[in-house]
Amino acid sequence: MKIGVLAIQGDVREHVHHTEAAGADVVLVRLPRDLEGTEGLIIPGGESTTIGMLMAEYGLLDAVMQRASDGTYPIYGTCAGLILMAKEVIGFSPARLGLVDIDASRNAYGRQIASFEVDLEIPVLGEQPFPAVFIRAPKIQRLGPSVTPLAWHHGEVVMAESGPYLVSSFHPEMSPDLRIHQYFLEKVKRAQAVAGVS
Ligand code: GLN
Repeated sequence: MKIGVLAIQGDVREHVHHTEAAGADVVLVRLPRDLEGTEGLIIPGGESTTIGMLMAEYGLLDAVMQRASDGTYPIYGTCAGLILMAKEVIGFSPARLGLVDIDASRNAYGRQIASFEVDLEIPVLGEQPFPAVFIRAPKIQRLGPSVTPLAWHHGEVVMAESGPYLVSSFHPEMSPDLRIHQYFLEKVKRAQAVAGVS
């Protein structure tokens, strides 16, 4: 399985490590042609304004939208990646894909110093809690009817999925736990099965 990791800015290396450790081959995506042959894409955390601006400049926003147009191309957005996947962004809004029907507000947990790690119950991953790292994380303020919540922190949704898309406001690549990357790879397998049938 070939997974693209958007390599414009942010914690690319950690996602590459986790995706490979979860059993996929990784392609670093910097230009539209890098998407060729990828079966899914991970958008790392970082600074969503910078990532969105450079994606627009390199033609990657259009190229990813094109790739996603048949609804069978899984994308996982973490933190800044979640912001780029959100339909609406409250406050200053970066150029983005807008593929998931959520509203996100940036830096809603406070500044860098308010970053934290917490063990989250994530039912789809099994009983063992997941060590989730939040760094200047966004909050999901609204979920549309097509979006399924997968994890909560103090009653607020921090991980969700919508068709082939997965988003989390925290960084799963910052802890040694591979289960979210494995979960995403399972989504990729299912999307391929659907694509094969249709
Ligand atoms: N605060 C960043 C933004 O708004 C996201 C932070 C992160 O990805 N760790 O883009």
